[in-house]
Amino acid sequence: MDYEKIERCVREILIEIGEDPEREGLAGTPGRVARSLDYLTSGYRADIDQLVNRAVFTQEIDNMVIVRDIDFYSLCEHHMLPIVGRCHVGYIPKDGKIIGVSKLVRMVEMYARRLQIQERLTEQIAHTLMEALKPEGVGVIVEGHHLCMTMRGVEKLNSIMTTSAVLGSFHDSMPTRNEFLTLIGRRAI
Ligand code: ZN
Repeated sequence: MDYEKIERCVREILIEIGEDPEREGLAGTPGRVARSLDYLTSGYRADIDQLVNRAVFTQEIDNMVIVRDIDFYSLCEHHMLPIVGRCHVGYIPKDGKIIGVSKLVRMVEMYARRLQIQERLTEQIAHTLMEALKPEGVGVIVEGHHLCMTMRGVEKLNSIMTTSAVLGSFHDSMPTRNEFLTLIGRRAI
């Protein structure tokens, strides 16, 4: 990322919104915005396939694995405002192939650190796991609070958006899907 280019753009934005980019409090702002954007969009520059494939190992497990309440912070692609939320991931391993929990969390972070819509974030997490582990099935549920909804526009303060992606046995088998929902603390359907 070219920090100087971003700094120039941020200066332009500051002027355009009626600010004085020379005043003391704002002097370092373009630089800070550039560094912060670099971090918040670092998912574009991460090699997610490599990250995930290196974290796959074999263990004699064939029951459902659940990781719940993975916090994430993303930016909506329509307004570049934050989406703050939690993600719950479950899968049933095949041939004992599982993934390290910290790398799973990191994978969620890397997809979140891009401009996103919540639906795509949910699908990307599910499909990446499906490809890397070739499990019996995968379920992903994402709950997100969209600041573009609360700070502007409709100003719905407490609305939470829920999206889900279910693949393989999580899609085909209702008992499996219900077990997943129960384990992450949701009512079965
Ligand atoms: Zn938005």
